[in-house]
Amino acid sequence: MKNPRVEIDLTKIENNADKIVMLAEQKGLKVWGVSKGTNADLEVAKAMLAGGVVGLADSRIYNLKKLSDLGVPLMLLRTPMITEVEEVVSLTEISLNSELEVIKKLNQAAQRVDKIHKIILMIDLGDRREGVLSKDVIPMVKQIKRLNSIKLVGLGTNLACFRGVLPNQDNMTKLITLVHNIRETFNLKLEIISGGNSSSLPLLLKNEYTPLTNQLRIGETILLGREVPSGKKFSLTSLDTFKLVAELIEVKEKPTARTGEEGKNAFGETPTINDKGIRKRGILAVGRQDIITEGLISLDPRVKIEGASSDHLIVDLSEIKDIQVGDQLSFRLNYGSLLQAMTSEHIRKIYQKEE
Ligand SMILES: *Cc1c(COP(=O)(O)O)cnc(C)c1O
Repeated sequence: MKNPRVEIDLTKIENNADKIVMLAEQKGLKVWGVSKGTNADLEVAKAMLAGGVVGLADSRIYNLKKLSDLGVPLMLLRTPMITEVEEVVSLTEISLNSELEVIKKLNQAAQRVDKIHKIILMIDLGDRREGVLSKDVIPMVKQIKRLNSIKLVGLGTNLACFRGVLPNQDNMTKLITLVHNIRETFNLKLEIISGGNSSSLPLLLKNEYTPLTNQLRIGETILLGREVPSGKKFSLTSLDTFKLVAELIEVKEKPTARTGEEGKNAFGETPTINDKGIRKRGILAVGRQDIITEGLISLDPRVKIEGASSDHLIVDLSEIKDIQVGDQLSFRLNYGSLLQAMTSEHIRKIYQKEE
């Protein structure tokens, strides 16, 4: 098999989705599968759907175009660029929004093709990424209600992405209070309360917790089986979903200290060097063009990652006796590394599925 490659276990991804969908269902929540971590890989998206997600959500139109072949409901997660409103209206059933100017443009685009476009208004509950501040919500809804081709179907929030604010009873109560206010003030149904991403899942495991929301948008815990933000295994899911395999192109006993003057590396960084004497060093044929080095977790604990340049990943192999050029090493990936590996054209994607 050619290298480097990512081996993708579709059965495990489907099982992860299934476990999460069941857990959410018990608590009255619908789950949308978030595909952006895989560059909207179609096989992975199909595995999510087989696991029971109600639709697919992605932040990029490029990805949603690919997904549109599957004929399932699609959601745009990132507030649209004004230059893409036509595509948003034609490709997606629903989009998340936080800017009135953009919503007006969506309205015009929908009007031109005689469609009604549904939106969820995003509320910033403290994470300080996208969203309208609570105090600005009512005046904004008043404006949105005037737009004939836009239907405001819910409120949503996104937490744990920028400032690391986690979902809890307190910020969810704030969201619900806003929903009630809007329902009363404007006589709107506002049926969707979109509570968040993978970081909401640990709360659902608590028996005494009754969610106030009714929709989740889940990527990482389905794809990688990990809790957000801790990165620990989530109790219901498997971690063995994606595996990066790379090949050794050099194995030599080498000094770890450099000879020559200190300087910056190709990425403008000044490396700190921990002189460990002469070590068995390996170079894998993969690099920062394809992965985020810090996001790789070696499946063999004796392999220590030393660093990488664009096309070379340097590992310390001193603890391994028989290892040579041509051997392959395997790694698990964190979300950032997965995103980059799945986007890299230089990495093959190999699918595995139990029959
Ligand atoms: C990426 C994203 C998600 C999914 O987050 P995960 O942590 O991968 O579950 C959900 N909502 C929005 C708005 C996103 O951008």
